[in-house]
Amino acid sequence: MSSLAVVLIPLAAAMAVALAGLIRWSAHARSRTDAAWVGFLLAGMASMLGGGAILAYRNDTEGWLAALWLGGLLMALSATPLLWTLLGEARRRSEDPRTFAPAALRDRRAFVGIVVALVLGNELLMGWLFPIAAGGGALVVRPSLAGTVTALGVVVGSPWFLFPMAAEMGLTTVWLWTELDPALRVMLAFQSAMMVLSPPALPSAAWHASTIYLSSALMIGLFVYQMEWVYRHPRVGIALGRYTIRLLAVYALLMAGLYEWLATGSVALFAVAVLAEMVLFFSAVADAARFRDDDPFTWQLRPSWAVQLLGWVLVAELFMGALLDLEANGNGFLLLVPQLPLSGDAATIAAHAVSNGFWFVAVVTGSAGFLVMMGSEMGVLVALKIRETRRREQRLRLGLTIAAFAATTVYFPGFWNTVPISHLPPIGQVPVLGWTMGIGSGGGLAPGFFVAILVTYLLIGSMSALFGRRVLCSVLCSAATMYQGTLVDSMKSFNRSSPVGRKFLGTHFSSAYTVTTGVTLGSLAGASTISYLDAIGRLQWTVGGSDPTQFLFSFYFGVLWYVMFVTIPYTGNYNCVTMGWCHWGTWSQAFSRLGFFRLKVKDRTICQQCRTLDCAKSCPIGLVDMVGQLRTTGEFRSSKCCGVGNCVGACPYGNLYIHDVRHWWRGRRPAFSGTSADGVPLPMVRGSRPLTVRNATADVPRTSPGFTRSGGPSS
Ligand code: SF4
Ligand code: SF4
Repeated sequence: MSSLAVVLIPLAAAMAVALAGLIRWSAHARSRTDAAWVGFLLAGMASMLGGGAILAYRNDTEGWLAALWLGGLLMALSATPLLWTLLGEARRRSEDPRTFAPAALRDRRAFVGIVVALVLGNELLMGWLFPIAAGGGALVVRPSLAGTVTALGVVVGSPWFLFPMAAEMGLTTVWLWTELDPALRVMLAFQSAMMVLSPPALPSAAWHASTIYLSSALMIGLFVYQMEWVYRHPRVGIALGRYTIRLLAVYALLMAGLYEWLATGSVALFAVAVLAEMVLFFSAVADAARFRDDDPFTWQLRPSWAVQLLGWVLVAELFMGALLDLEANGNGFLLLVPQLPLSGDAATIAAHAVSNGFWFVAVVTGSAGFLVMMGSEMGVLVALKIRETRRREQRLRLGLTIAAFAATTVYFPGFWNTVPISHLPPIGQVPVLGWTMGIGSGGGLAPGFFVAILVTYLLIGSMSALFGRRVLCSVLCSAATMYQGTLVDSMKSFNRSSPVGRKFLGTHFSSAYTVTTGVTLGSLAGASTISYLDAIGRLQWTVGGSDPTQFLFSFYFGVLWYVMFVTIPYTGNYNCVTMGWCHWGTWSQAFSRLGFFRLKVKDRTICQQCRTLDCAKSCPIGLVDMVGQLRTTGEFRSSKCCGVGNCVGACPYGNLYIHDVRHWWRGRRPAFSGTSADGVPLPMVRGSRPLTVRNATADVPRTSPGFTRSGGPSS
């Protein structure tokens, strides 16, 4: 460590502590005098640093004069309100010392704005001055917008800016901990740690790699925390709700900035994101009281808020996935993203921009980095769901969902070539694993893949006939993990309340459903035919250089799927199923409808008298008309039913169970008859007293003899 650094590091640390102390003071300031003192001291620090920055450029008479002028001006500007306030207070105190009270600070918002601007100014000056003092040479700023942005990037990307900033954030969070809203303080603590782990802060490859992975993991932790918190709090304070969305937007920008930095070396976008985060952070801590005295809103009645939550998380994750891929694979990753030049007339530029955006999203969402990160995040939410699920079968299925995501979505597609087994066939020749969505991922429709494709379709078809569509849509498909974590599962309320979701409620196939299914199947047939003709050399049609079926795969499952996921608050949960835009689900549902799978009740008289209808309310597909079938026939069959099983756990009388080939088989073998798949005696209500209730929830003891509760309210 150089002798200069020995002096500068403690100096920077002392300034960070002083700034944090002033921010804490500003959070407690209730009188105009306090506010004036805080402003005066912050301006005093800025005048010192500003004077120093001028002298770093011109250490001559003119430089000294300019530094003195600037210092004098800032001190005068900040001292005037202080003197004015002190004199006013002294006058009022002398007039009536007994009733004297300090004048209250009225415009807190303006005060907080001034504090944040001064803290930001001080930080920028530190990031400017300290590198020069450490011998880095004066920063040259070109007199243009681009030059200013570049200089800003250099200042903000400097360790003299980022580390003191992180220290201030951490200190203020700790000092104000007990006064902060519990959810807010957790977010602030995450933000402080994220600031320390800024990859551009140090010019070292080891630092870059470790901070990219650590900050990504930390951000995933934050997203999980936020989503779980929202799930557990149906009502969110307005200020906290706004803060959450703004923080997610800032983190989306931050991840885009880090991706740009790693791809091009420019820190401009990263710097803008850091400054935005600072403003957000310090305005929250300096005005923390507004989070405590907050009006709450019901987020399930605010689809726009929920869409922003999902949308910003997804954008942040897209860039995080790209960042991880870039760090892991170097520029090889950039070569995978087709990029058309943004030149020519306006129409060409627009078309090329759309194409570039499409392929960026499709390549990233199909990449190992993105899928590992997304699977970890959504997998934790599913694990949290398992924790609150009591039915053993349901817990097992949710566990299988996570395992299936890890195996079929991440490991095999992403790491097939790295499996340490020699003579592995191409992934396209492996049934199911090579064709997880029945299309595209393994390759085009080449004759060499026919056997694998045929086996894939037959296998999924027969499994669906035996166990129902749940094999695919509730276990094997990566969508199951995405949909069934705690928060997203609770978004099933939007199936009933959202304008689009409502149109697809129930078991019937509306004309909108028929159209979407027709378009999906038609596009699949067209793309497959062209792909085959391409493969045998009759045609040479590609889409943006890609095989048509691979393009279709990218379109449906790399882009559209995520768009539809984000729009769940407007289109409803499991919209691939409810709207019928997934050909793979359509294939499975055809076999499911013909096979053994159905829901059955142990005693339909219970359903006839039930007033809770909890089974229908808990369905993530929105099969609201299931009760009618249960009451009349004692069973429920629907092509749309994915066997998620929430309804089984939700029935307050344990009256419902899933019937599939296992029950059929047991029914044919006396040794096993009378026992359901999860070991509950069938029928459940033998010998029970008849229900004579108006409201089953109120009048029937939930644990009365003859009734067995199985499962929690929503699992
Ligand atoms: S319909 Fe398609 S995308 Fe949706 S869960 Fe089923 S297989 Fe997956
Ligand atoms: S909640 Fe249970 S008892 Fe009520 S209708 Fe549904 S399956 Fe029948």
